[in-house]
Amino acid sequence: MGLEEVKNIAAKCVHFGMCKIDFLGTGVCPSGIKHKYASYYPQGGMEIVNALANKLIPVTERLIDIARSCTLCGICDKQCYFVTELRPMKVMEALKEHVEAALQRNEPIESPAEDQVLRDLRGIVGEEWATNDPAILVTYSRDIGPVDPATLVSYSVDMRPVSYSGDISPCHLRHMPGYVVMPESTREVAEIIKAANRHKMPFVPRGTGQNSHGLTLGEGIIIDLSRMKTLEVDPKNWTATVGAGVTSFEMQKEANKHRMRASVAEPAACVCANMVMTGIYGTLCHAYGYAGDNYVDAEIVAFDGRIFRTNDTDAPNVLKYSLPAPGTFAPLPGICTQITVRLYPIVEDEEGILVPFSDLHEALEMMREIARSRLGLVDSILGLEYFAPFISPTFQASEELRRFFTEEMEVKYLLMVVGDKYTVRTIKEMADVTVDQEMVRTIMLGLPKFYSDEGMELLCQLSGAEKPYKLLFKEETRPLVEMSLSPSPENIAAVVDEDLQDFFKKLYSKPEMTDLVWLNMYRILSSRIGRNYAYAPSLAFVSLDNLDKVVEICDMLKSIGDKYDLRSGLGVITPLDFGKRAQMEYIYYFDQTNNQERENAANALIESMNKVNAFTQEMKAPALVSIVFQGLCRSENLLYT
Ligand SMILES: Cc1cc2nc3c(=O)[nH]c(=O)nc-3n(C[C@H](O)[C@H](O)[C@H](O)COP(=O)(O)OP(=O)(O)OC[C@H]3O[C@@H](n4cnc5c(N)ncnc54)[C@H](O)[C@@H]3O)c2cc1C
Ligand code: SF4
Repeated sequence: MGLEEVKNIAAKCVHFGMCKIDFLGTGVCPSGIKHKYASYYPQGGMEIVNALANKLIPVTERLIDIARSCTLCGICDKQCYFVTELRPMKVMEALKEHVEAALQRNEPIESPAEDQVLRDLRGIVGEEWATNDPAILVTYSRDIGPVDPATLVSYSVDMRPVSYSGDISPCHLRHMPGYVVMPESTREVAEIIKAANRHKMPFVPRGTGQNSHGLTLGEGIIIDLSRMKTLEVDPKNWTATVGAGVTSFEMQKEANKHRMRASVAEPAACVCANMVMTGIYGTLCHAYGYAGDNYVDAEIVAFDGRIFRTNDTDAPNVLKYSLPAPGTFAPLPGICTQITVRLYPIVEDEEGILVPFSDLHEALEMMREIARSRLGLVDSILGLEYFAPFISPTFQASEELRRFFTEEMEVKYLLMVVGDKYTVRTIKEMADVTVDQEMVRTIMLGLPKFYSDEGMELLCQLSGAEKPYKLLFKEETRPLVEMSLSPSPENIAAVVDEDLQDFFKKLYSKPEMTDLVWLNMYRILSSRIGRNYAYAPSLAFVSLDNLDKVVEICDMLKSIGDKYDLRSGLGVITPLDFGKRAQMEYIYYFDQTNNQERENAANALIESMNKVNAFTQEMKAPALVSIVFQGLCRSENLLYT
């Protein structure tokens, strides 16, 4: 297969970096594990093929090495299909063919010259870990965000309303860096910063590179921190101390060995990056808190190369940092090379439960009541546009599921609660109907029948004046539903590509794959948000004192999506500070390969940010974009106006 035939697959990579973590028990790309640069992972291969197809890079020594080091083991096909339904193996095969054909034609192999900056960087980290080879650089040159990075960054720094200044090329928004360097220690990070300052060269730290705000792009030096993998759990102290390259998934897995967990968000995000950038908001924030609530100490290399810990008595006050970071123009205190985060004990009788709603106001009322009563670990409202892909193995299945939920059953929102047996019992008392853990498993494993079985449709029609879901999820109806769905790993696996069905059967035989507690703790499903679409999230803190206003904001965000002809929907609402506020995420979906849709998404995002900001000021709540890069703050500094 040639590059032309696979370039459409390559262009759809969403850069979530799930191919860097072993979230399915398949192992991780052996080429990436060995060579560390993002370029050697499937994500890198996709980006390289995208660039080759657009004639952006020549054949170089690194390109040959990247192509040849892929063993065609097939791990990425399983991982990537699970998340996005893409098959990177085809792309890797095409890359190999392209490179071997070029070599056979005796095409020149370019080898970029080593300049003084590169010599200095290599002097610090060693020959292997600093490069200016275009095949490496290009994999660090783009993210999926629809908005020109400078526009968004200036917005989050100044909080001034901005308009979209489109800069869209056929290859989207590319910023080729000059160098990529991969330090292994704090000392090396400090030396790199000093060298960059000597050369007056901008630099940008990077974890997994998931962010969609252009924040890890830049024309100078990209400092890829993925080699900083120290990870230590202190069960007596209830803490984990991790290096800048450790992902949430890796930390959570290690903590789980001690029956503990941390508050994490995206599994492939690096803990340090996520904490510094957003303060890590997620469904567990309801119980575990947010931002400064969850870290105990952090090691920072300041932008003059000085190393300090936030707990040092003479440490700079990280709250007052507002100077732009070199290259990113964003207010970072420095590069966080290590962080110690709090862990919480796992209680053995934890369970998940869902409460279906057709009305957002009613869902908000219950969520707020649970939050203010301090019940449970998770207490979040999920929109159906968001939830359906999470539990569906293919895009087609999620479309069918969403239709069945919203149109046949009249369910628009699900309140998800995780807690101990007392919490679950209380939720059952509070709600008319609930979908308990057993029923969640039944629906997930019987998914294809759930949305296509005639018996299920008939049940919906029998509900009369009652909302159909109230009949469907009644205790008495349960045996009927279970019988109709005949849930099994075979049933759910039947909807995926034939050659992957055996793998999916085994996967769904694992109890954790349908366990709401496990799924919240590792969050491996939320990356499915990038299946078929890229996404642009509009974020806000809202006050829960006035629920009408929250509904109004949600409607306003939807009307912006409609105006720009975009698919959109409520993502998630999670209460913070026991129901004083909530963090709300509304999502615009767009095809990242379609320039018009990218532009529409950019405009929708900018307009929504401006309007959300006005709303949240009216509600005396801080807007979320203003706290990006202040994740090390006490949460009180962010949540109180
Ligand atoms: C599908 C999806 C869902 C998401 N959901 C959530 C969510 O629910 N909650 C949430 O909090 N976030 C969420 N995010 C955002 C994401 O977790 C953050 O962007 C996180 O920072 C990404 O981690 P990363 O390692 O990829 O960081 P990168 O993208 O590599 O870096 C992010 C920023 O941090 C800087 N940076 C990186 N490492 C360091 C460091 N060690 N020290 C200082 N600065 C550094 C970078 O320069 C950049 O500006 C989501 C992202 C995706 C793609
Ligand atoms: S097929 Fe190649 S790119 Fe994919 S996981 Fe295996 S070695 Fe990595």
